Amino acid sequence: MDLVYDVVVVGGGVAGVSAAIAASRIGARVLLLEKDMSFGGVLTTALVNPMMTFHSPARQVIGGIGQEIIDRLVSVQGSYGHIDDPIGFVKSITPFDPEKMKSSLIELLVEEGVDFLFNSLVASVSREGDSISTITTESTGEKNRVNAEVFIDSTGGGNLSIRAGAYYNIGDGSPSSCQPMTLVMRIGGVNREEIISYVNGNRDDFVINEHTDLSYLGIAGFFSFMNRIDDYGISFKRDRLLFFEIPYHPGQVFMNTTRYPGYANTSKELTKAQSKGNIDVWRFMNFLKKEIPGFENSFLIQTGCHIGVRETTHIVGDYVLKTNDLIDRKPFDDSIAVGSYPIDIHLPSSAELKTISIPYPGEYHIPMRSLIPKGLANVILAGRAISADHTAFSAVRTSPLATATGMAAGITAALAVKHRRLVRDVNIDLIQREIVEMGGIL
Ligand SMILES: Cc1cc2nc3c(=O)[nH]c(=O)nc-3n(C[C@H](O)[C@H](O)[C@H](O)COP(=O)(O)OP(=O)(O)OC[C@H]3O[C@@H](n4cnc5c(N)ncnc54)[C@H](O)[C@@H]3O)c2cc1C
Repeated sequence: MDLVYDVVVVGGGVAGVSAAIAASRIGARVLLLEKDMSFGGVLTTALVNPMMTFHSPARQVIGGIGQEIIDRLVSVQGSYGHIDDPIGFVKSITPFDPEKMKSSLIELLVEEGVDFLFNSLVASVSREGDSISTITTESTGEKNRVNAEVFIDSTGGGNLSIRAGAYYNIGDGSPSSCQPMTLVMRIGGVNREEIISYVNGNRDDFVINEHTDLSYLGIAGFFSFMNRIDDYGISFKRDRLLFFEIPYHPGQVFMNTTRYPGYANTSKELTKAQSKGNIDVWRFMNFLKKEIPGFENSFLIQTGCHIGVRETTHIVGDYVLKTNDLIDRKPFDDSIAVGSYPIDIHLPSSAELKTISIPYPGEYHIPMRSLIPKGLANVILAGRAISADHTAFSAVRTSPLATATGMAAGITAALAVKHRRLVRDVNIDLIQREIVEMGGIL
């Protein structure tokens, strides 16, 4: 089939969905393509939870379509909305039910008049000069050729841009430096009262402070138990358990604890990590049931259908966001979003995290130029795919900011079509005005 649209968005994570909605709202005819069978990307296929963070220590910094998604989830009992981070790492966290996320994103896209196709892997790209002219999707049974004036790359690793010939780096300069993958588990039968009582009696064993409110359980700790995981034949190393309650599902948590180093862009290493995870989960459940207070009667409900991939490739944009841009809170005239999640690197070679906080008010800006792949004329990056170095990426990869860069990408794409401009030539004042009009925060 041959399809023609104004704007085509490749990748239906929260960035791609936000981009598609924003572009459609400005009047573009939009097609959203997703290789899997749900929207939400790693938030639904890999069970990543909660979204963090919509707030800096001083104010809400992510609004717009990201906030609309949360409002919709709250209205269907799919989220409690933003709550104080019990761990105190960030200002707020936003836990949600991934099944309600899937349905809510589809409803929002339908309401906005966005066309979409699942089971549509964008496998090849044709170029005319510096522009993508046609992309070809492959699925079981058919190929579609799709033409558009502007393409948004919200594939996470930027694989649309790479197929189009964009420059890119891998991890911190080598495949082995990518942050590790995590197979998240959904676990039921957890006794929250027992956990609260244990935490209150052993506060040194947890990341906790005097303001911690345990009415919602977000737990990082049980540090003193973690050297016992070797006794259970578990193949990964981790210094803590990290888990979060699932809204409106009493006794259920998402456990984000496994870790598998590897370069997820090769089938071999991705398969190795996924396979180790699928075997480790039962050994890990055994460890939890035998060792961890509150997990005696727990049971595994599911793991993500994909192992969660944190990092692979980084596209080189017109501007590459650098670590010091975040730490120094560098102002940009072409700012299109504000983030507040700190630098947070899961080290591939050890059980620990490397974190660097952003000085008060804990806010940094994302320039529009970091959404434009160098050398391409009609492609815009969104979400995890935006251009950043390895360390800055560890902060800007998070999901609320992905909705904000997605919204900015969608707005810019639609304006480029409307005003017949190349994406890097769209007037920045116009982009910023539309962002604020759509509820975005600058
Ligand atoms: C284990 C783990 C824990 C994390 N923890 C947190 C957390 O606690 N809080 C938080 O906010 N963030 C967290 N993150 C980061 C965050 O969830 C993601 O970086 C963010 O959600 C990325 O959103 P996205 O839309 O940019 O990309 P993704 O969610 O990766 O979506 C990209 C989509 O593109 C599709 N796609 C890719 N290539 C193609 C193609 N060629 N054709 C068609 N479709 C394609 C994919 O199937 C996918 O659906 C975590 C990530 C991981 C992996």
